[in-house]
Amino acid sequence: MDHFLYRHGQLHAEEVPLTEIAQAVGTPFYCYSTATLTRHFRLFDEALEGLEHLVCYAMKAASNQAIIRTLAALGAGMDVVSGGEYARARAAGVPGERIVFSGVGKTRDEMRAALAGGVRQFNVESEPELDLLNAVALEMGLRAPITIRVNPDVDARTHAKIATGKSENKFGIPIGRAREVYARAAALPGLDVVGVDVHIGSQLTDLEPFRQAYEKVADLTGLLRADGHDIRRLDLGGGLGIPYARSNEAPPLPTEYGALIRETLGHLGCEIEIEPGRLVAGNAGLLVSRVLYVKSGEGRDFLIIDGAMNDLIRPAMYDAHHDIVPVNEPPPGAEQVPYDVVGPVCETGDTFARARMMPELSPGDLVAFRSAGAYGAVMASEYNTRPLVPEVLVNEHQFAVIRARPTFDEMINRDTIPRWL
Ligand SMILES: *Cc1c(COP(=O)(O)O)cnc(C)c1O
Repeated sequence: MDHFLYRHGQLHAEEVPLTEIAQAVGTPFYCYSTATLTRHFRLFDEALEGLEHLVCYAMKAASNQAIIRTLAALGAGMDVVSGGEYARARAAGVPGERIVFSGVGKTRDEMRAALAGGVRQFNVESEPELDLLNAVALEMGLRAPITIRVNPDVDARTHAKIATGKSENKFGIPIGRAREVYARAAALPGLDVVGVDVHIGSQLTDLEPFRQAYEKVADLTGLLRADGHDIRRLDLGGGLGIPYARSNEAPPLPTEYGALIRETLGHLGCEIEIEPGRLVAGNAGLLVSRVLYVKSGEGRDFLIIDGAMNDLIRPAMYDAHHDIVPVNEPPPGAEQVPYDVVGPVCETGDTFARARMMPELSPGDLVAFRSAGAYGAVMASEYNTRPLVPEVLVNEHQFAVIRARPTFDEMINRDTIPRWL
């Protein structure tokens, strides 16, 4: 459920008509709903009620300062995957003890910054990383709290580019070697082993892979405790999918996911962390764009819009489907015609949808890409020297630009000319 609904013939974000934002900000732009962000965070928080838990929003899904603040004010922790994200979380006022540091390629500088600023735990992904983190912590006279990310070798049944829990993926250590690696970690004086971490992929639309992974984590926790490790925290990653095509998808609900966690892991008495990103932000954001031209082609019409692959790369990169709806509500029973929806970038890859059935549209009309709040703005670029797409946050009847569109001068002046030119 989200808070983007037609009222009086116009698509609104909460109480604000999108046409009003388009007039003020220009197009294209991302628009997020505070109410939807809040609702989705609370669904997870409530799904784990009764268990000691922390919902750590996976910031990489949408990392604007205003979004982080909105979620942090509700009690969210943050899952960060880079020094930049760590700095963003801290700048938004998130205390170190609510920040989990994930990722396969943490650098010495990133480790130092997080240890200095405070961190809930590092989710360590390899033995060389254990050694480096141990060395960095000892240099600073500290002990780094860690979990080790185990790779449970389960098939997440999602797009290959976002599956992370099979043995051939680069993530974590093979679960079969976990006891050996935990023994090694426990012997390093700069590390404090607090738990186990797992994250098997993104956009999972069925609970079975989670069940397989969490059962393996439960077994492993028993073995590690028998080996003498004080396993008191389980980080279960993110990955719960969202319905991108409203008509035919119904991924599991956070309540069902919470019930599975209780069932597979509840008896262990561990503190539970989860790291949802997509489900919190995905349906809380739209990309709004304007139709530039309707161009007749061979057997199809092209809807050329002012948004492009540099603004929303998911269709080009993951073959992702986004529902695209007109901002002016079509009359009931309006005839639908097929469009290839494309952007202005000089690549055929700049195609959002092929033969998409939509009500007839004209130049100047606004369209909204649904479910664009996660992995949308954060993956945007300035390819073709198109200004980085702005972001807007709505809260009931108010809206605010939370990242402004840069001017051409601002973009150009980021380059510097060497002395010899
Ligand atoms: C990407 C990622 C997440 C979030 O995944 P979603 O599918 O957006 O919920 C959580 N944890 C880790 C370690 C990740 O890499």
